[in-house]
Amino acid sequence: MSPQPLRLYDAHCHLQFDTLAPHLEALLEQLPALGVAGAVVNGSCPGDWEDVSKLCLRTPWLLPSYGIHPWDCGNRPADWHELLEARLLAEPRAAVGEIGLDRWMLDRAAPDDPRLAGMKRAPLPEQAEVCGAQLALAARLGRPASVHCLEAFGPLLELLQKTRLPSRGFLLHAYSGPAEMVPAFAELGAYFSFNGAFLETRKRKVREAFLAVPAERLLVETDAPAMMLPGDRVEFTLPPSPAGEHQNHPGNLRVAYAGLAELRRTSREELSTTCAHNYARLFLARGPAQ
Ligand SMILES: [Zn+2]
Repeated sequence: MSPQPLRLYDAHCHLQFDTLAPHLEALLEQLPALGVAGAVVNGSCPGDWEDVSKLCLRTPWLLPSYGIHPWDCGNRPADWHELLEARLLAEPRAAVGEIGLDRWMLDRAAPDDPRLAGMKRAPLPEQAEVCGAQLALAARLGRPASVHCLEAFGPLLELLQKTRLPSRGFLLHAYSGPAEMVPAFAELGAYFSFNGAFLETRKRKVREAFLAVPAERLLVETDAPAMMLPGDRVEFTLPPSPAGEHQNHPGNLRVAYAGLAELRRTSREELSTTCAHNYARLFLARGPAQ
């Protein structure tokens, strides 16, 4: 008899993306068989919240999360805050996210990067205002939050220090900041999710930061269909999107768990138990409204 698969939790993904639609039914059958026991599905703008909601309603092991992503910040509708609050109030188990700060998009992304097509790139102070308001809303409603940060860890720390934060904590998804900043973020209530893309040889610094994360704040994620793993680590594949982009199969969560266990010199069993507790504490326990 083959052993029971480990119970794995994907702390951050986007299974509602249009490009996954042709594969979705197969994935929803396959993932539980691979041991995926829970996943947080992040909406990034009002335009995709309804898809997240419908998907999570019919799939009880998926948890919905709603937010304005920094890439969508410039195009947000005027009434975004009311829309977000109404949706969160209607869905008591929903989290807040994906929210955050992104300086890469402003300073280094190519002007014709297809992932940013049609997006009005909001300057950092505007991103901070929108991110801060969403954190405060999460705090007020007793929800956890999922935060994206690219090349803006100083401004993010500053924002977190002056904003009311969810008492149950928040996730820094695919944390790519320095190891030295981990204690300051952890002190404020941060959890840190490890992504399989960090197994790329040149990402040594990011891996080092995950050695500084306290065990009770560790999580694992795919960001699927985004963030491809290095080619030699990919276990499951999906056809490319209609635009020809690679798509990360969410089953590769197993690879990320194995890579993190190896990095931290622990067993996959022990890591999966730790992360299951962390996932439940951050995302599943109903927090008090403040
Ligand atoms: Zn994401």
